[in-house]
Amino acid sequence: MHWAGRLDTLGTEQAYVVLAAAKQLEAAGHRVVHLEIGEPDMPTPPHVVEAGVRALRDGLTRYALAAGVPELRDAIARSLALRGVQATAENVLVTPGAKPALFSAALALIAPADEVLCPDPGFPIYESVVRFAGGRPVYYPLDETRQFAPHVAAIAERITPRTRGLILNLPHNPTGGVATPEELAALAGLAQRHDLWVISDEVYGQIRYDGRRDSIAALPGMTDRTVIVDGFSKGYSMTGWRLGYAVVPRPLADPMTTLLINNVSCTATFVQYAGIAALTGPQDAVARMVTGLKTKRDRLVAGLNAIAGITTASPAGAFYCFPDISGVLERTGLAGRSFAERLLAEQHVAVLAGTAFGPGGEGHLRMCYATDPAELDRALAAIRRFVEKLEPVAAD
Ligand code: PLP
Repeated sequence: MHWAGRLDTLGTEQAYVVLAAAKQLEAAGHRVVHLEIGEPDMPTPPHVVEAGVRALRDGLTRYALAAGVPELRDAIARSLALRGVQATAENVLVTPGAKPALFSAALALIAPADEVLCPDPGFPIYESVVRFAGGRPVYYPLDETRQFAPHVAAIAERITPRTRGLILNLPHNPTGGVATPEELAALAGLAQRHDLWVISDEVYGQIRYDGRRDSIAALPGMTDRTVIVDGFSKGYSMTGWRLGYAVVPRPLADPMTTLLINNVSCTATFVQYAGIAALTGPQDAVARMVTGLKTKRDRLVAGLNAIAGITTASPAGAFYCFPDISGVLERTGLAGRSFAERLLAEQHVAVLAGTAFGPGGEGHLRMCYATDPAELDRALAAIRRFVEKLEPVAAD
């Protein structure tokens, strides 16, 4: 059987590979601590579930308009005011999750040989979709000493005459980094000076411990060159519902809708009604989740920093820690990936090697702390045991 070569350009998410290995251990009777998959541990808020069920019972089970149910597009447009973005329903395209919004934006914006600036470390799907669309990902580094905020000078250095776009992800997966207002303004200036479009992935926007919401699209001159990618998965704990959206400059809305018609027809109609309830109903479950996540973050960061050879900055948003384990790796000669594999095999703690997010993740792990505090304690005890027992290995 022959298939198209473009499939070879696709990358994947290591999280699913590690999840499969962890499930195998569970099937063999072991108890695994799961810190690999990035999803909130709270259930979907009950009023949101209720709205979805009611929509099903009311017979909202047929095709919706391709760009989304008008009430949801309107609710999304209104919700953007919280981050300072002025938009109307016409700017909003509803998608089955944030990923299809990202994928559609990449297909819509990237022409062959375009260079697109992507964070390293960063969500691996950026590089994958840039290549799939025929473009060339150009990594820009994120530096721990700058709390993993995008470094404007480092990004500027990588701009060439072929650079067409910049992908931002704030708060950032895997580091939890955010940008200061000054950094965001400098990035907006850069995009305008070099005529770049920006894909701004804001899926963790509600999970910020300083309580701020922002978006590069809110800055003067940016709405016409920014596509916001966002969704309900993380903030409303709706990962399995598959509901997301893109906010696009008006001229892109029709062509991107055509892309959606070709690809998904529409997003599940009853799910969109759940989304309306999420946006327009009480937000206390989200606030409670963020407060709980902050406590978990502090517990994990303090526990990791008490282990010799590991240092961890306290992330400003999202629900990931990105500990630097280079002290342990240097002492033992292990590579980060082997560390993560052995931690799972020997201690049954599932984490991701930082390199799952690009070469800039070397010497780090990504740990999702959206779980029971007792699980975090269990993981910490296991990591401490593991690190203390680790002997230097022959070249890894
Ligand atoms: N963007 C980032 C940075 C993510 O971490 C994720 C999920 O892990 C997504 C997008 C995808 O979100 P969704 O589940 O809504 O497709």
